[in-house]
Amino acid sequence: MDLPAQRNPVGAHVPVAGRGLAGTGLAYARQVGAESVQVFVANPRGWATPAGNPAQDEAFRAACAETGTPAYVHAPYLINFGSDSAATRERSAESLRHSLHRAHAIGALGVVVHTGSALCGPPAAALAHVRRGVLPLLDELEAFGDAAPALLLEPTAGQGRSLCARMADLGPYLEALDRHPAVGVCLDTCHAFAAGHDLAAPGGVAAMLDELTDAVGPGRLRLIHANDSEDAVGARKDRHANIGAGMIGAPAFGELLAHPATAGVPLVIETPDGRHDPDRVEGARHARDIARLKELRAAAGVPA
Ligand SMILES: [Zn+2]
Repeated sequence: MDLPAQRNPVGAHVPVAGRGLAGTGLAYARQVGAESVQVFVANPRGWATPAGNPAQDEAFRAACAETGTPAYVHAPYLINFGSDSAATRERSAESLRHSLHRAHAIGALGVVVHTGSALCGPPAAALAHVRRGVLPLLDELEAFGDAAPALLLEPTAGQGRSLCARMADLGPYLEALDRHPAVGVCLDTCHAFAAGHDLAAPGGVAAMLDELTDAVGPGRLRLIHANDSEDAVGARKDRHANIGAGMIGAPAFGELLAHPATAGVPLVIETPDGRHDPDRVEGARHARDIARLKELRAAAGVPA
């Protein structure tokens, strides 16, 4: 795949229901001006592991390669390797293996997975389960050679007994995975803000990125979920807002786009599309969020 033309491609999580990955997903991406895409390859709230449609897979893969569009898969939300239930941990492995194989089939660069919660006692016990569940999947990826997708750990908003919320929490998690080279990080700005990183404060973005680099080392940040937040810093609530319409505010996204730690890292929005708004035009809010981020990228003035 060609290198992205921009320092930070800006895109969206796109729907794929109806006409599939290419027919629906890439058409939506074009409509909203997305330079990067993220998709689900299974019901995000279930355990099903559906087979792909080979024609759609190939059309999606070829179009992303041709346009230099980095693509990502978001694994289902139910996955939790820190669960106290052996059945849930087994299903988590099956579900994540499915997402990784589907990602390879469609040419995606990475699979985003939530880091889960310690439902099985102290965090150390949960991390031992994470290690037992995830390391074999990472080793299986070697069969894909250079085309293997990365596994991107996404810290959560800090609800319950979350295993990773603050950036520093990623250190022990990565350690439990032997700092495997196939592991990267997906930073969700709304989650980080909810977990107490005050991105709206002066220097807040840089402080968060410094903490991230301290925890995992340079080069692990591979994707950013660019979401504003409905709730205040530290609220531990995961309610996304449109860019500039929430408590994080647009300037923080400008700082993010100017920081050396984010060079080359694609952004994907997972913002509301106004589903309950009677005057809604499909995709209009996403198009506006993407346009806003592109403006902030231009204003950041960092060469591509
Ligand atoms: Zn996210």
